[in-house]
Amino acid sequence: MQKLHNTAQLKQSKWHRPLTRRQLLSTAGKLSMALSMGALPALAHSAARSLSTLPDDPFTLGVASGDPTGNSVVLWTRLAKEVLTTVGAHDDVLQVHWELAEDENFSQILRSGIIAASPALGHSVHAEVRGLSPASVYYFRWHIGNVTSPIGRTKTAPAADVDNTEFSFAFASCQQYEHGFYSAYKHMAVEQLDLIVHLGDYIYERSWGDNLVRAHEGPEILNLDDYRARYTTYKSDSDLQAAHASAPWVVTWDDHEVDNNYAAEVAEDDQTPEQLLSRRAAAYQAFYEFMPIRLPVGRQGPAMPIHRRLRFGKLMEMHVLDTRQYRSDQACGDGRKPSCSTHQDSSRTLLGAAQKDWLYSSLATTDSTWNVLAQQVMMASLRSRDENGNELWPMDIWDGYPHERQQLLETLHTVGTPNPVVLTGDIHSNWAADLKLDFDDPGSATVGSEFVGTSITSGGDGRDMTDYGAALLANNPHVKFYNAQRGYVKATLSPEQWLSEYKVLERVTEPGAPISVRKRFIVEAGQPGVQEA
Ligand code: FE
Ligand code: CA
Repeated sequence: MQKLHNTAQLKQSKWHRPLTRRQLLSTAGKLSMALSMGALPALAHSAARSLSTLPDDPFTLGVASGDPTGNSVVLWTRLAKEVLTTVGAHDDVLQVHWELAEDENFSQILRSGIIAASPALGHSVHAEVRGLSPASVYYFRWHIGNVTSPIGRTKTAPAADVDNTEFSFAFASCQQYEHGFYSAYKHMAVEQLDLIVHLGDYIYERSWGDNLVRAHEGPEILNLDDYRARYTTYKSDSDLQAAHASAPWVVTWDDHEVDNNYAAEVAEDDQTPEQLLSRRAAAYQAFYEFMPIRLPVGRQGPAMPIHRRLRFGKLMEMHVLDTRQYRSDQACGDGRKPSCSTHQDSSRTLLGAAQKDWLYSSLATTDSTWNVLAQQVMMASLRSRDENGNELWPMDIWDGYPHERQQLLETLHTVGTPNPVVLTGDIHSNWAADLKLDFDDPGSATVGSEFVGTSITSGGDGRDMTDYGAALLANNPHVKFYNAQRGYVKATLSPEQWLSEYKVLERVTEPGAPISVRKRFIVEAGQPGVQEA
């Protein structure tokens, strides 16, 4: 078991090392032979079949865009399998047209193109449009045969070197389909944001709870067909589609896109590492198929590097992290536990060596005003005490990896990364916290700020305060806010101030609930730590 673990890590770190341009070029050739998926974007659309008439709408999963840069954005859609089956085209590579314009009426088509939709990728399509203007709103749509898709709004990032003075985005996570309706997305969509960030648990691999308001199909999902069907169910939601059509998204995954609390190749339950890696390859492929992202360079089988950096003018640099694919197995049997020797092992990692090197070097050189780590699990310590006063550590979050957390916080402090802000999902509750150099010493330096956003639906309606939350607030003085309703966080940035607004819903078990701001926190530039506004 241990040997397998090491082999897999070696394999991953090889694929993870930042490649030189020469390596990249020579790797590209090998990859396109080795990977059916890697070869596809280069597929000539002229070889693809052109459909003239479809009996039904194939765009029932909506449209999306994502990963904007100053001059490019990825456009996405996916053709519904049922419609293709009806016309006997489900095994064919098909031509899909896209159009992009500056106005919603498409009075002048600025760009257009044809993409090959392949059955190998479930007829999903990703068009990377380049040569666009920075900080500009565009509208896009897709055509196949006689059918046109819904219209999507997207926006490029501000130019990398511009002194931009305002940027606003929302971040969200954890949208268990059975636990509630996506009303939060309905509200988010009308905000016409610059960006929407998803921190993971976009789908859930299985059911839990007993107050389910709608059903997703089947038992726990394990293979590619299962994962595709699950994404299809989630993406059929019109509120989710509205949010995707309203702004570009930046997405990362957490655990439930594969398996609850998996760690690298270690499954939650009794799957062997080989089984989990094969499952992970299917899950990661489905993630790519359904998300508006560029094909990750270095993808091979179960290895799919999605950590990346996006820049939004001089105002914000966003480091999108992956704390699942490379992590050491949770210590002491996972859950909330007293520390054990494995927990103290300084060689354990949450980020993996390659991602960590990449992150640290970026944190040492970034010149943006706000430096975001968009990631999954809570970084501020969230320890509790049992009835005998023994300290309990939540082993799945950064508390379970104390050495690496300390190293990261000390790095931020030492290299002087400007205004680090950590954004987090995963735990289905809102939190605001100071990131301390020493969480055991309230007088130690605050090196950054953390905003944890609650779930879109996971956990059902929720409550403002719980005994659990109150106990954790009392035991962790660096944590300033807790709320366990559903919703999302809106962030508004200026060169002087970061504002986080915690938007919550009265309920998610019925559709159409209104939304309100439960709390506002700010960070002043140059002064790390969260302040109630
Ligand atoms: Fe979750
Ligand atoms: Ca999670």
